[in-house]
Order: sequence, then C-alpha cells, then structure tokens
Amino acid sequence: MATIPVINPRLIVHSSVLAACALAALFLLQCGSGVGSAIFVMEPLPYSQDALAPAISADTMGFHYNKHYAGYVKKANELTKGIGFSGRSAEAVIQMTAGDASKAAVFNNAAQAWNHAYFFKCLKPGGGGAPEGLLAEMIDESFGGFTDFKKLFITAAKDQFGSGWVWLVLDEGKLAVVTGANADTPLAHGLIPLFTVDVWEHAYYLDYQNRRVDFVKSVLDNLANWDFVADQLEKAQPSKE
Ligand code: MN
Repeated sequence: MATIPVINPRLIVHSSVLAACALAALFLLQCGSGVGSAIFVMEPLPYSQDALAPAISADTMGFHYNKHYAGYVKKANELTKGIGFSGRSAEAVIQMTAGDASKAAVFNNAAQAWNHAYFFKCLKPGGGGAPEGLLAEMIDESFGGFTDFKKLFITAAKDQFGSGWVWLVLDEGKLAVVTGANADTPLAHGLIPLFTVDVWEHAYYLDYQNRRVDFVKSVLDNLANWDFVADQLEKAQPSKE
C-alpha cells in the first residue's frame, strides 16, 4: 500500500473529508442495495405487551402489534419495492400516493404502518390525566377546556362509521379533532398529527366487544401519553410562546 506524502495540512483536511464522504456514499449505496433498503421499519413497542392492561390487554396488544402492525409494515415494503419509491421516507410515500386511486394499496399499507407506530407512541402505562403547559393552554383555547376536548374526541370516535382513526391535530396553528376512515392520516391532508386513537375493531374488540366509546374513554383516562403529545406540539411550532 502506498503511503500518501504530506503536501500541506489544508489538503490533508480536504482529502480526509473527501475520503469520509466516499466512505459514507459507499455505505449508503450498500444499504440501498441490501436489507437496509426497507422504507418502513417496524418500530419497537415503547412498553411491554402487557403493560397497558387492563385498559388494553396483552392479548389485544399482541395481536395489534405482531399481526396487524407487522402486516402493514411488511406489505408496505413489498408494495414499494422497486417502483419509484427508492430513497423516499415513509411520510413521502404516504404523501405521494394519497388520493391516487391507482396507488390505493400502497397508500393504505403505508399509512396504516405510519399510523400504528404513531398510535403506540401516544400511549403509556400510567398515562391519562390532563395535559399541562402549552398543550393544555391550546386545548383550552381551541375546545373550551380539557373536559370539552374529551367529549368532542369521544363523540368523534363514536360517530366514525366503520374502521378508522380519531386525531388531535395542529391545523394552521390551531388544535382540531379530525377523523379518518380506514387508513386515512393527517399527513395526507397537510395537518400535523399530535394524538390518535385507533378505532378499528381489532384495536378493542377482544377487550370491549362493541363498546368503542368505553375503549376510547379508557385510553384517554388511563393511557394517553400527553408528554409525547406535548413534545410533538413543541416540535411543530417552536416559536409559539
Ligand atoms: Mn390498528
């Protein structure tokens, strides 16, 4: 191996930066052609499968995470393989396929993969209670108070016909509650997701059967991770006092 003669320190800096870039590029290329190319990654559950019981049983969480969520992630990766999505983020795939009937299968699986990962992060053992700080202030401002927000959220969940999601979102600087059918997601509508509850029957049927409202109430009262939601809000509008 040839030793590179030292010419001047500046060039050494340049060449080492170049070498680092070349190595990084090589690394990315290798990732892009191998197993690491999957756009959708199964995010770890932030707690154990039985940690949310009794509000969500270990059985429900086990099926939800290992079967439903895993299924969407797997299918989303299969459907986006080699058809122009290379190097795109999960969010970009969702936005690129939203509203395009010919890409419905990609959108549905991509959005479901994303929605589920987000939903699991919105929950924690010993959650619930009332939010604090900016999130609490904005809830007061937008809904008249936390109790009114909960009523609105629960009614929205009840009125969502069939499978779907209920969301607390940031819409042009204001909080709003929105619902979406099936895989629909705020990302497809220019809204910033803050909190969500999955109201597909697979999310609650083993524990609550047809009692969707009881499930949503229980999530709000026992599992809602308002710290996570507050972090998302802060990231979304760092300039707001
Ligand atoms: Mn689900």
